[in-house]
Amino acid sequence: MKTNELSGSYYMYGNKGSVWANNAHIAKSGDGTHRTLCGIPMLASNWARIEELKEVNCPLCNEKYNEQKTKDEKQTRYNRFFRIPKLDYRN
Ligand SMILES: [Zn+2]
Repeated sequence: MKTNELSGSYYMYGNKGSVWANNAHIAKSGDGTHRTLCGIPMLASNWARIEELKEVNCPLCNEKYNEQKTKDEKQTRYNRFFRIPKLDYRN
């Protein structure tokens, strides 16, 4: 997928090897794993960002990203549906 189509807290990650292979990965900021979606540890500088790769090519990252996005969207719909106004019993 295109790098600029990543949504929200997702971003592209790739070390030098990934950049040479044109195989950038996807990571989610704030998930605390310090790994890409496919499980690669993010130890080095983000060369994919430095080199401004336009595509995220890792097939596993793409697959997981789509899975998680679908799940996130379902959760959002669920939250919206069940958002009940707080009752105030003091009256
Ligand atoms: Zn990957």
